[in-house]
Amino acid sequence: MMFLLQIAALLFGTIVGSFLNALLFRFNTGRSVAEGRSKCMHCAHTLFAFDLVPVFSYILLRGRCRYCGAKISIQYPLVEVAAALLSLLVYLEHPTLLAYGFWFLVWMVLLFIVVYDLRHTVIPWSASGILLVLSLVSLVVSFDTGEVFMFVPDVWSLLAGPILALPLILLSAFSRGRLMGWGDGPLELSLGWLLGLTLGGTALMLSFWIGASLGILLIVFKKGLTMKSELPFAPFLVVGALIVHFFHVDFFYTLPFLW
Ligand SMILES: [Zn+2]
Repeated sequence: MMFLLQIAALLFGTIVGSFLNALLFRFNTGRSVAEGRSKCMHCAHTLFAFDLVPVFSYILLRGRCRYCGAKISIQYPLVEVAAALLSLLVYLEHPTLLAYGFWFLVWMVLLFIVVYDLRHTVIPWSASGILLVLSLVSLVVSFDTGEVFMFVPDVWSLLAGPILALPLILLSAFSRGRLMGWGDGPLELSLGWLLGLTLGGTALMLSFWIGASLGILLIVFKKGLTMKSELPFAPFLVVGALIVHFFHVDFFYTLPFLW
């Protein structure tokens, strides 16, 4: 029974992941999320519970609609698996219920932003707004003791967001949004406040390294891609944040003025 809570975290993650998929496919289309994924997008056949089990239905149906054989987007199982793994990581990092709830919400908003940015190369302002509110909450409230613990943030915690976001905002401004999208600065503002200066700085460096490596690989192996091709940057910012938040990589923790 040792792993009961871990398994519960995984299962809960897949359920939220499938809701997130519905949200991602419906967002800005005018269709209600409350409808759920009730019909096949191709043949409009009503889908039943056994067609909609996260991850498993996709595998059992080999990625095709049971009724018309149309391909089901690989996004469904990928987002469900990602949400499940994030749920587990959040549980391992923040095992109390309140802290798990808060950070799981943060990571689901980040997952939404990543997938949306990959699909549309833009970050919806509503998602950035929710994340900004959560990051401001994290500046003055900690949930890790299992209760709501309010505190006064030090000056470096307050400056972390603006300091880390500034280079990205400047990049957007000087390139008029071509080198760096307008949504990346505000996203980094929230990440800076959520992670703090040293972890946030480490995450930002990791994002640039991973982004640059992947960009070069793509240019080498794909002829169509040039230095000017628009690469969504939010996924790299979030992967950097993921590495520091869950695996505690910190390049700067020895900096004396931050002790
Ligand atoms: Zn169908």
